[in-house]
Amino acid sequence: MAATIIDGTQIAGEVKHQVAEGIARLKAAGHPVRLTAVIVGTTPAAEIYAARQAEGCRAIGIDYNLIALADDISNRDLRAEIRKLSADPQVTGIMLHLPLPSHIDSARVQYAIDVVKDVEGVNPANIGYVMYKHVVIAPCTAMAAVELIKHTGVHMEGAEAVVVGASHIVGKPIALLLTEQMATVTICHIATRDLKYHTRRADILITAAGKPGLITADHVREGACVIDVGINRVTLPDGTRKTVGDVDFDAVKEIAAYLTPVPGGVGPMTVAMLLKNTLRSAELLAGVKEG
Ligand code: NAD
Repeated sequence: MAATIIDGTQIAGEVKHQVAEGIARLKAAGHPVRLTAVIVGTTPAAEIYAARQAEGCRAIGIDYNLIALADDISNRDLRAEIRKLSADPQVTGIMLHLPLPSHIDSARVQYAIDVVKDVEGVNPANIGYVMYKHVVIAPCTAMAAVELIKHTGVHMEGAEAVVVGASHIVGKPIALLLTEQMATVTICHIATRDLKYHTRRADILITAAGKPGLITADHVREGACVIDVGINRVTLPDGTRKTVGDVDFDAVKEIAAYLTPVPGGVGPMTVAMLLKNTLRSAELLAGVKEG
């Protein structure tokens, strides 16, 4: 039987609706909700992305501003900018657009983002808090993947979950959140000897490798829930460009019970989680919620 396709755009819409209500309540009580995005050395693609983000924020009542910095800014000056925003009481959320120019030490800049204002959950302190079950702000993409699984109704407790990809910001946080849900988690990465051996055991398979076509029907157990986090731009034989995930969608949809599409799966849900985190940051700063 063909898989149920998980509609990330629709689920994200429901989340945004709830977030908008929370923001309206907070602002009515006189608390600021402001997301400040920082971009270093703009490109046309980054500008389009930032403009969309501004639109998305304003549509649900989040005040938004973008600070564009020159691409030759020093590490020290960039960290100083971030610290200034961290200390500004009118700024309740901070987002740093990646990639940064090659001379910038991205991780050290991310460390300068105030833990509560870190709406993307990129400060390692926030990942550490997840480990200790004391979540302040969890990384957006990991939250998105787990929320989509929850939406299917598939039980995570006791399930065999396999995560393909072990990056600090995507794969490992997903594995942590699944562990919190009491799944039995295996993390695979580029040095995994027999990927198929692991993925075929998975009740829940999450792939975040950034490799188009990595997960074929042969990698998937019948009836599995498959979440495709990968975003890859590929050129088709006719020369047109297309965005695909890591999963061979057409083949895997005949085997899996649930499958996310790319685009339209984890991507829109990640944006919704960023907005949800922006509300949470503002609530924590206003003291209406505890971290
Ligand atoms: P990364 O390059 O930092 O990490 C990739 C991970 O995949 C590494 O751990 C690597 O060991 C593993 N890997 C690579 N090739 C593999 C293979 N052949 N077999 C097994 N493991 C392999 O990438 P990232 O930042 O974690 O992002 C991963 C993917 O997720 C990318 O396609 C990225 O665009 C996408 N992404 C999507 C969203 C979203 O909102 N949907 C958000 C962030 C990242």
